[in-house]
Amino acid sequence: MNCLEERIVKDGVVKEGNVLKVDSFLNHQMDVELFDEMAEEFKKRFEGKNINKILTIEASGIGIASIVALRFKCPVVFAKKSQSINLDGEMLTAEVESFTHKRTNHVIVSKKFLGPEDHVLIIDDFLANGCALQGLIQIVTSAGATVEGIGIAIEKGFQSGGRIIRNLGYQLESLAIIESMDASTGEIVFRE
Ligand code: 5GP
Repeated sequence: MNCLEERIVKDGVVKEGNVLKVDSFLNHQMDVELFDEMAEEFKKRFEGKNINKILTIEASGIGIASIVALRFKCPVVFAKKSQSINLDGEMLTAEVESFTHKRTNHVIVSKKFLGPEDHVLIIDDFLANGCALQGLIQIVTSAGATVEGIGIAIEKGFQSGGRIIRNLGYQLESLAIIESMDASTGEIVFRE
């Protein structure tokens, strides 16, 4: 068991509806020392890739992506979920159905920050049905940039996202893949 899996067992809470709560260390309170160990692992798994930009989605991907960016020594761009008055110029957009909030968001990245010269590592906290990732991939593709890889903290392997994204041919690396989890007992089983 790696350090993320150990932490999930220790502090994760399995909720009804296939939701894992990890807000004490991942996406509300953030354990940045754990993020640093995760970033080291992503650096190893994407060794040799020519990555010059990290892309994530607000809000919960930003913390992990920032620590990963320190390892790759490149900037982080995060897709915004709402049109802000501060956004100007041409935009790249995609529609993403939110797993946790059950609504559709427009996600937006300024064309100023993503273009054909970019080799992108996409980072996010969770992979469930793959909607967020497909939106981010669409944004990278429409910018004319290249997806070099995708790094996920927690993949729920019993949902369809991982299979869909791997079938598209992307290098998808998830640090913890949950095979099954049970809200009544709290039991979590990881993929070997
Ligand atoms: P997907 O688009 O793959 O269906 O869902 C991914 C997004 O939904 C992630 O960005 C994450 O924020 C959220 N998400 C999906 N499943 C979970 C979960 O079990 N727990 C939490 N905390 N967030 C989740």
